[in-house]
Amino acid sequence: MSEPVVLIAGGGIGGLATALTLHQIGVRAVVFEAVSDLRPLGVGINLQPNAVRELFDLGFAEADLDAIGIQAREWALVGLNGNDVYSEPRGIDAGYKWPQYSVHRGQLQMMLYAAVRKRLGPEAVRLGERVTGYRNRADGAVEAEITKSDGTTATETGTLLIGADGLHSAVRAQMHPDQPPIQWGGAVMWRGVTMAKPVRTGASFVGLGSHRQRLVFYPISQPDPATGLAAINWIAEVTFDTDGGRSKGDWNKRVELSDFLHHFEGWTYDWLDVPALLSGAGDIWEYPMIDREPIDTWVDGRAALLGDAAHVMYPTGSNGASQAIMDARILGRNFVANGVTPTALSAYDAELCGPVSAVVLRNRGAGPFSILNLVDERCGGEFDNIDDVIPPQERAALMADYKAAAGFALEKLNRAPPTISVDQMEGRSKAPASSAG
Ligand SMILES: Cc1cc2nc3c(=O)[nH]c(=O)nc-3n(C[C@H](O)[C@H](O)[C@H](O)COP(=O)(O)OP(=O)(O)OC[C@H]3O[C@@H](n4cnc5c(N)ncnc54)[C@H](O)[C@@H]3O)c2cc1C
Repeated sequence: MSEPVVLIAGGGIGGLATALTLHQIGVRAVVFEAVSDLRPLGVGINLQPNAVRELFDLGFAEADLDAIGIQAREWALVGLNGNDVYSEPRGIDAGYKWPQYSVHRGQLQMMLYAAVRKRLGPEAVRLGERVTGYRNRADGAVEAEITKSDGTTATETGTLLIGADGLHSAVRAQMHPDQPPIQWGGAVMWRGVTMAKPVRTGASFVGLGSHRQRLVFYPISQPDPATGLAAINWIAEVTFDTDGGRSKGDWNKRVELSDFLHHFEGWTYDWLDVPALLSGAGDIWEYPMIDREPIDTWVDGRAALLGDAAHVMYPTGSNGASQAIMDARILGRNFVANGVTPTALSAYDAELCGPVSAVVLRNRGAGPFSILNLVDERCGGEFDNIDDVIPPQERAALMADYKAAAGFALEKLNRAPPTISVDQMEGRSKAPASSAG
């Protein structure tokens, strides 16, 4: 029996975390990444404690994550009048055994990429090779069709194919040819990074405004000891009633400040000057708040979806990258249990597709920002004391509910055994290559 090999379409956070996980359990993996030159693109993202735990289990140290971000300490919602609506500690301060990190997305991808090259070898990531489709073969293998950046095509054969090819996934398009187009809910996000003084705890995630118009911001670096300035990641967001035709997600669309600054005129508080924060950024990127309608399965024979390809979601829960990492780890655990087989893919699908699809739908309904909807409904955003609008128990219950659904409920996570235990790592219980199922 030949050694199993898993083909991975996409070298983003999900695809690279999958390659590292497979290497850890002794399964060969090859990543096909469409871009020819992997660069640290994007701005800030959050890694929830469940995902940070998995990165530690993959051999990354706190120092590695400290180099690309900062441990988050607080999550806070503030009304348009500048008054606190809700706040809670995050990460270690909240009692998790693992920290939450706010990191630069591109630097996280580069950290994973460097680790894959070091551990699996430089040939394990094939840049400039786009997966355009796949074929489940009758003899128990899968073929991936590849188009290279020079225009030539090739076919690669593997035991399984993981489609971690993001929002515009070619693997998903073939698996679900009748899927509806990308769904845009009416909100547009403008994203940038500005060097500025951190507020509140110095590592706070702040959602300021209403559910229809808000600014979300948080530091993604430690402050410079000399200046006190940190890299502040911000997302300015406005919901429109009209269909502006923004149904195509492009993470790389650069825009001008003047396109949206007027929406935030007058957002000045004694602790924050929003127009100044927005004006201080270098490049600014526009991205519509989009997702895809959940599908009933992520698996077709020997091909499976993972990360955004499986469940692209509104970033309201700061959970997209964390879920991609969790997918990779849970897939790995299922390989340990069932071998590198379609049976393992089915078990992974059964475990995740339904619950994660529910999170996709939940984020559409504002996710944890739903508290701001309630403030609007109950008092039009005008209040002196939030307790008169939403009692503390109700606010706490809303947040607990969300965290349970998204998989980072505190007690449950702290008690949970490792997704992949030490004796399953490094191929110590090498997964069989059998083609069961
Ligand atoms: C350039 C970029 C910038 C981003 N910036 C942000 C950000 O600032 N904030 C945020 O919250 N989220 C951002 N995201 C999305 C975020 O990374 C994901 O939501 C999350 O990390 C899940 O990761 P993923 O690996 O599933 O998808 P992605 O991170 O999207 O990775 C998918 C990878 O697959 C590659 N790919 C696509 N199609 C194919 C194909 N057919 N064959 C082979 N390779 C393919 C892509 O080039 C990409 O490297 C960005 C994504 C990208 C690609």
